[in-house]
Amino acid sequence: MPVPRPARVSGIVEIAPRTGTAFALREGQVLTVIDPQGSQVADLVAYAAADVREVISNGRTFDYEETIALTTGNRLWSNRSNAMLAIEDDSVGRHDFLLTPCSEDTFRHFYPEHPVHRGCFGNLAEALGPYGVEPDAIPTAFNVFMNVPVDPGGALRVEPPTSKPGSYLELRALMPCIIGLTACSAYASNGGQFKPIHYRIN
Ligand SMILES: [Zn+2]
Repeated sequence: MPVPRPARVSGIVEIAPRTGTAFALREGQVLTVIDPQGSQVADLVAYAAADVREVISNGRTFDYEETIALTTGNRLWSNRSNAMLAIEDDSVGRHDFLLTPCSEDTFRHFYPEHPVHRGCFGNLAEALGPYGVEPDAIPTAFNVFMNVPVDPGGALRVEPPTSKPGSYLELRALMPCIIGLTACSAYASNGGQFKPIHYRIN
């Protein structure tokens, strides 16, 4: 018998730099998001598979979890106040749920010297379209590994992720979900370099 390649054995899927994908996650399955090279953000959105009008909500999540510093033990909640995903393991402890996915508009705003890119928003819109998700239904993403310190006065800034090669986040689906996931395209979010993201479903 042929020997399977390591990537198949471990079930790891690669998201190429500055691209995105979407897939179903059954209730109880665990999604592991991995930063293979370090200092790379992955934008994550989740919809209820039964009705994609139900979607993760940063506001509901902050309400129920009583923190914006989400890590192991916290859950991500929907606009209908259902817990969708539970963070079961987190080797980084620094993620963002405040800022929207990068988009053509944010490239024009922040990076006028660079070519416009469709960003995570455009990548999510294309990947989620086949699941019946309209672009206007893309919410603030849970930005895995994104490093957005908030000053006591409320000012925020985007700094390079603290994730190292092999850093990971594990999320268990608490309901059947459709997941959108990217390798983020914005300069500041990723320390100025665009790298792949890996994920695995168990
Ligand atoms: Zn992005």
